Amino acid sequence: MTSYKHLLCEENLIGGGWVGADNGSKITVTDPATGKTIGHVPNCGRAETNRAIAAAASAFDSFGRSDLSQRVKLLQALHDALMDNQEALAQLLTAEQGKPLFEARGEIAIGAAYIRWFAEEIRRAKGEIVPAPTGDRRLFVTRHPVGVVAAITPWNFPSSMLARKLGPALAAGCTVVAKPATNTPYSGLAWGKLTEEVGYPAGVINILTGSARDIGGALMDSPHVRKVTFTGSTEVGKTLIRQSADTVKKVSMELGGNAPFIVFDDADLDAAIEGAMIAKYRNMGQTCVCTNRFYVQAGIHDAFVEKLRAATTDLQVGAGTEPGTMQGPLINEAAVAKVEELISDALSKGGNVVEGGQRHALGGTYFQPTVVTGATADMSFATEEIFGPLSAVFRFETEEEAISAANATEFGLAAYAYTRDLARIFRLNEGLQYGLIGINAGLITTVEAPFGGLKQSGMGKEGGSQGLDDYLESKYMCVAGL
Ligand code: ADP
Repeated sequence: MTSYKHLLCEENLIGGGWVGADNGSKITVTDPATGKTIGHVPNCGRAETNRAIAAAASAFDSFGRSDLSQRVKLLQALHDALMDNQEALAQLLTAEQGKPLFEARGEIAIGAAYIRWFAEEIRRAKGEIVPAPTGDRRLFVTRHPVGVVAAITPWNFPSSMLARKLGPALAAGCTVVAKPATNTPYSGLAWGKLTEEVGYPAGVINILTGSARDIGGALMDSPHVRKVTFTGSTEVGKTLIRQSADTVKKVSMELGGNAPFIVFDDADLDAAIEGAMIAKYRNMGQTCVCTNRFYVQAGIHDAFVEKLRAATTDLQVGAGTEPGTMQGPLINEAAVAKVEELISDALSKGGNVVEGGQRHALGGTYFQPTVVTGATADMSFATEEIFGPLSAVFRFETEEEAISAANATEFGLAAYAYTRDLARIFRLNEGLQYGLIGINAGLITTVEAPFGGLKQSGMGKEGGSQGLDDYLESKYMCVAGL
């Protein structure tokens, strides 16, 4: 096994120095596969955050005006450093987060790919020369980095979520104060180490661990922080939007989802099962784009359920580091309790467990991959995010019924549908109120395309050419009297 010790940072990066909390307080980080302690990270608060903001603001004076070619070179070096350390970073990620190693390797690779993407895309971040209404004037639209960015990331993708925020920020010339999730701080701190190694100037990237409320509060209160980018729960996202109002920050939010996965009678059944497995059980169901609700048309329903059940039985559960593991432990006890609560709610309302349904014999936070049929709109998982390895299968008759049920949620992040009817595909595109739509595909995230939700799933896009927009301000300049 490759050692990750050289990337295990137990201090925070503030203004180019590695430091502990002012009062020496620490947080214990555990491995969800074993419950054992991995190590300790600083429990920082407002004072340390304010120093990080000051360092980022001071670094912005020069980094914000640095040569484009220099920023591109640094990003390319960061991409290479990530890939050179892919195996160690993946081991570290699995240790703190629990996902199978093959998924962790994939996460490091896509994180590196985002960095490379933004290194390329910033070279095309053009302004505009606008036709002027009179001959004595010339009108220009120019683009500039927004300034200091606060980046707050969740535990389910502790590495790649940071990539989608650091990539465009560093490409644009912004400086960053990042706060990784408390459960999974090491992947984020490792980014600090690698950015330092490839030569980013002191203060350009600052990484803090500790009290979410205190660090978040200091970031939101500061007039120097011009933008906040957040991935996490809708509840915390709403708090941050409220808190950012006083200093009118730019805001991008990647919040919760409640993804429908619609299987029509004319679908390729085997392809639908393959897509269903990845859209549901990836990261043990703990992603905001994971399927929350399967809607299956009456004619194909029983065949789909049988194949889904069989494929679910085959999922190997175990520690992420064990060869062949497809399902690791859930992140914590609260996540297991939530899945149990959703299953018992469904059973009390007439649902049937056709696979799994219990804690796994491995103990800890392992849970059996589960399938519940007979799902109805009054069950809690119809409206709440499951975030666990539980497939809820609803039956439907008509396309209109499926689209309307799919849209009956406050969320609007990802939706999936399997069909071979071309006209229907375009009706789905127009009818589904979702920011990401997978047709005959269960995994659609890619650096080239904009990732982001509608409705209460958030605002702003990450990736694609749109992924830079939130990190650049435009200025309009009119030159008159020519
Ligand atoms: P989840 O735990 O489902 O990923 P959360 O929204 O609870 O979602 O957490 C996402 C990130 O937001 C984590 O880094 C967490 O520490 C942080 N966070 C939680 N509460 C606050 C808050 N009040 N202010 C700022 N950040 C917060």
